[in-house]
Parts: sequence; structure tokens; C-alpha cells
Amino acid sequence: MKFRNFKMVSYVVYGRGSFNQLDEILAPQRRKGLPMVFLVDHFFEGKPLVNRIPLRDNDVVIYVDVTYEPKTSYVDQLATGLKQEFGTVSGVIGIGGGSAMDLAKAVSLMINNPGSAADYQGWDLVKNPGVYKAGIPTLSGTGAEVSRTTVLTGPTRKLGMNSDFTPFDQIVLDPELTANAPVNQRFYTGMDCYIHCIESLEGTYLNEFSKSYGEKALQLCQKVFVEKDHWDEASDDMLMMASYAGGMSIAYSQVGVAHAVSYGLSYLLGTKHGIGNCIVMDQLEEYYPAGVKEFKYMVEKNKIDIPKGICKGLSDEQFDKMIDVSMGMKPLWENALGKDWEKIMTRDKLRRLYEKL
Ligand code: NAD
Ligand code: ZN
Repeated sequence: MKFRNFKMVSYVVYGRGSFNQLDEILAPQRRKGLPMVFLVDHFFEGKPLVNRIPLRDNDVVIYVDVTYEPKTSYVDQLATGLKQEFGTVSGVIGIGGGSAMDLAKAVSLMINNPGSAADYQGWDLVKNPGVYKAGIPTLSGTGAEVSRTTVLTGPTRKLGMNSDFTPFDQIVLDPELTANAPVNQRFYTGMDCYIHCIESLEGTYLNEFSKSYGEKALQLCQKVFVEKDHWDEASDDMLMMASYAGGMSIAYSQVGVAHAVSYGLSYLLGTKHGIGNCIVMDQLEEYYPAGVKEFKYMVEKNKIDIPKGICKGLSDEQFDKMIDVSMGMKPLWENALGKDWEKIMTRDKLRRLYEKL
């Protein structure tokens, strides 16, 4: 038995208003003449948050387009542009949801690694550490702030740059930044965390490390989406810690059926991660009976729309593509269903599941 020896985020600050400490946090990381680059979710363009970014000298703000989930080509374009203009940079700071944070991780790595981000999609392929990188979430749930991956869609696959060089050097967890997220988006991203917990806690890879974080994260999600009857500051505070703990739970286990199936949707149809997971979770009674029951309750209570019929009219070829992508996520299936998962989840069975979505 070999135990995973995982790299973690080096520095963490948590608290309302902790964003105000950013200048002080970044000061020792600044290298003479080289800018800090802030990759900011395009949602914040023209919003007050932008005026609070501690810009100095030749610092750069780039509003990143997160309409689609990050592509390797976009990472390459951003990293190449910065290298051409500055040679290198002091650091890359991602401010936004999982997409902006993943872009920041990937761009930091690609400033110090040759070729295309697509060359590094997989496990432990990245050769050199990136430049200094920090993540500042404005949505809670993905756990991207603590994970050792950055999920990218490349020319041939959707897969992360999974490596010990990928985790952030610093994260700033300021729940004030998530305050005004739209109700549906907040739910979809929050459910990413809830689903991480269910998949981790119900999985065969579970150990006490994952369980401790997973149970805490689950309890926080339940407080926010089941028990409370209105959204307030405490909801933002709790969900931000749920996301962190949910991410820590996954660090030592794996996600499961909802993620494996949702990856297929995302690859073929471009369905976004949070909403895709919800669409799939809605149909997973067979695998996670208690979790799905509670999930449905939360959907109703929070008056959320979960799209239906998104696979209607797809061709056999298209179903096959989704099944290929999904079946490729071997560790997820093994975590969910055990070593003999291929006997349980056949292509036929998976096809019938996709047809229900
Ligand atoms: P997102 O980053 O894709 O953002 C969703 C939408 O919300 C965007 O339109 C964005 O502009 C907007 N937004 C962000 N913050 C906002 C705010 N405070 N107020 C209003 N709007 C805001 O959403 P997400 O669910 O956080 O992230 C999903 C992405 O994260 C996917 O690309 C997925 O692959 C990735 N992901 C990564 C990991 C990891 O470990 N690296 C884990 C899970 C998901
Ligand atoms: Zn997820």
C-alpha cells in the first residue's frame, strides 16, 4: 500500500475583509521590474472590487472570459502574451470562480514550462514549478482553491494539469466576495461541494482523513441549503469553508458517479461543471439514495431550475462519445463502485442513464 503524499496550498488567510491584506501579502513576492498579473473574472469588470486590487508599478489586470470553461488554447494565449511582453512576471493572481482560479494556476505553470498546456494534461507531467500564484474565490464550492489540479479542455480531452506544482502558494478566502452571486449560480457551484462530499463519503477510497473533512463540509452545506431559510453573511462564511473542506476531502479520495457522467456532458455539449453535476445527481437515486433525496429537497426549497431533456435527440455516435469520455474516468468509477466497476456500469447501462438526463 502506497499512501498519497500530497502537496498543499502554502498560505491561507480566511475572514471577512481579508482581501484588504492583499497588498501586504504580495509585497514580498514582487520582483524588481516584473508585474503582478491579476486574472479577474470578467463579471467584475467595472465593479467596485476592481478598485480594491492593490496595483503597483507595471501590474496588469486581465479580465478573463469564463463564458466557456478554460481551454488549453486560452491558457497558451495568455501565457505567451505575458512572456512576450515581460519575459516573466512576479506572480499570477486569480480572482473569480473555479474557472478564473484554474486559469491562474495554469498560466502560472505555463510561464515556466515549454510548449502547450495540452502537453501537460494528465498526472505529474508538469516539469517546472510555475511563478508565484494566488487564488481568491468569488464563488464557493468547487474546491479549486485547494486542489492539485486545473481542469482544462484541450484539443483531445478534458483533463487537468494534475501535479505537485499546481496548488496555489496563497489563497485569500474572503466570504464578502461571494455576497452577490446570482441565486442559481451560487446553488450550482455550492452543489459541486455537496456532491464532492457525497461521492467522497460514499466511495470505496474513503479513509478517516477524507471522512473528517467530508463530514464537516457536508454538515456546512446542509446548514446553508437545508436548514437556513434565507441567505445571509453566515451562509457565505459557511459555504466558503465547506468548499475548502470539501476540496481537502477529495485530496485524499476521489469523486464518483455524478462527476464521471457529468464530464461526458461537458465534453460533448459544453455543459458547465456545476450545473452538469446537478443534472446528473438528479438521476442517481440508485447510487446515492440518501444524498439524492436530500439534493432534490434542496432544489425545491431553494427554488432552483435543473434543466431536463438535454440529451434528447442525440445520435448514437454522440452517446458513444459521452460514454467513452465517462468510462475513461477510471479512478472515479473505481472509487464509486469498487474494483469490479466495469461489471456494474456497462456501456448499456450508462447509455440508459444519459438518455434520462
Ligand atoms: P465559474 O468560475 O465557471 O463561474 C460561473 C459564472 O459565475 C461565470 O459567469 C462568472 O463570471 C460568474 N461569477 C463568478 N463569481 C461571481 C460573483 N461573485 N458574482 C456573480 N457572478 C460571479 O464557476 P465555478 O462553478 O466556480 O467554477 C467552475 C469551473 O471550475 C469549471 O471550469 C470546472 O472545471 C472548474 N473546477 C475545478 C476544480 C479544480 O479542482 N481545479 C474543481 C471543480 C471545478
Ligand atoms: Zn466538482
